[in-house]
Amino acid sequence: MPRYNVKVDKEKCIGCGACTAVCGDVFEIKDTKAFAKEPETDKECAKEGADACPVDAITVKEK
Ligand code: SF4
Repeated sequence: MPRYNVKVDKEKCIGCGACTAVCGDVFEIKDTKAFAKEPETDKECAKEGADACPVDAITVKEK
């Protein structure tokens, strides 16, 4: 099973909540900014979160 490194660029994030809506297991919002609560994950929805982000703040790289 692939594993992913997940990063959220806090400078870009506008706190819209799209990533948490599609992948609440990996993303969480704290103080109006999202962060990866699972920065290393095997959850495929991390990529959906990245796709859903309107400002391309999320990077998901396969390890
Ligand atoms: S989808 Fe993008 S802009 Fe919206 S909360 Fe998540 S990281 Fe931030």
